[in-house]
Amino acid sequence: MKNISILGSTGSIGTQALEVVDACGDVCVHALSAHSNVALLSEQIRKYKPQKACIMNEDLYSALKLSVADTSTEIVCGMEGLCDIASLSSVESVLTSVVGNVGLLPTLEAINAGKDILLANKETLVTSGSIIMPLAKEKGVSILPVDSEHSAIFQSLQGNEHNRISKILLTASGGPFFGKTRDELKGVTKADALNHPNWSMGAKITIDSATMMNKGLEVIEAKWLFGVESEDIEVYIHRQSIVHSMVEFEDRSVIAQLGNPDMKLPIVYALRYPCRDVAVGSRLNLFDIHTLTFDKPDPDTFECLSLAYRALSQGGTMSAVMNAANEIAVEKFLKGEIEFLQIPEIIKSAMDAHTPTLDFTIEDVLKADAWAREYSAQQ
Ligand code: NDP
Ligand code: MG
Repeated sequence: MKNISILGSTGSIGTQALEVVDACGDVCVHALSAHSNVALLSEQIRKYKPQKACIMNEDLYSALKLSVADTSTEIVCGMEGLCDIASLSSVESVLTSVVGNVGLLPTLEAINAGKDILLANKETLVTSGSIIMPLAKEKGVSILPVDSEHSAIFQSLQGNEHNRISKILLTASGGPFFGKTRDELKGVTKADALNHPNWSMGAKITIDSATMMNKGLEVIEAKWLFGVESEDIEVYIHRQSIVHSMVEFEDRSVIAQLGNPDMKLPIVYALRYPCRDVAVGSRLNLFDIHTLTFDKPDPDTFECLSLAYRALSQGGTMSAVMNAANEIAVEKFLKGEIEFLQIPEIIKSAMDAHTPTLDFTIEDVLKADAWAREYSAQQ
């Protein structure tokens, strides 16, 4: 039996992870969490009977407690509760599938408690990768990527531990606006931006895919996970989302991982690593796909990708500022308060106004994050 906690169990990754848990049959869920979806969290508590469940929105604590009063699950709330369920003594692994930099403190708590991390919450590595990776090494815990591209890179590295990566070829679907010019992006709606061609995901990451900030975040995530410099991470637009990413080695061989676009594949790999003994999703049929294409990204239209490379080259707390400004800008776009093209404008403005602290602590990250949220909210 493998015992796990799932942070963000009511989301897109969280619910798919529970489907994978069902398929495995030998994984026991000891803790679950949501931000505010009391109904779904209650349903999950009844089905999985976890020791503890956390509701982030403290105003909903009583409602959740009442809703599952007949169960033996202990209800906790807020950041304290999230950190508590991330470090339960009975679990070996924690799936971090909350959205945003809110995942940072519970991830640190889990690492400090010696838990392996099944990492979906990329924002944590974007803001604090230089702190998290050495801490994980020091505590002897594994960071197993759930993001499909990083899972593909990790899979391509198996058996190659002693070979140097010469380049990472990071694939991107291009999102709903691939091939459009800046002019054509004027006035696009929330519904247009949420209409992703290949993946069904939470709202924030779907907008990040439309702006290509998602790929920017993933370039930074790849740098920290695999210790590769940003100039050696190249983005390829691959519309079919079949090749999930590739690694080039010094002998110029390129190793790739392929599969249908289904997040259950990287989830099951992280959960059962290094075994491949549970089938999830459908078989890849390359005769149906027929053609695999690769294009260069358009940095003028999709400025967010360039902003991420800029954040990496400026270093320090700049990535935290970029990430927080993006979280606020996406929230504003989803509320209909700003236009699509204002998302990169807000992020750039916050980055221009910030002087990064280069040698930084978690407190510096939290301070930069809070500053960027306030600054961006006022734009
Ligand atoms: P969703 O929005 O679908 O789910 C987010 C989860 O986190 C929900 O359980 C939500 O609870 C909870 N949550 C939201 N805000 C907070 C908060 N402030 N504090 C605590 N919990 C919160 O997101 P996704 O599942 O799409 O994404 C989760 C993470 O995984 C992100 O970092 C994303 O970048 C990454 N990822 C996602 C992929 C995907 O296919 N979806 C692919 C690769 C990476 P509630 O339901 O109550 O709102
Ligand atoms: Mg991804």
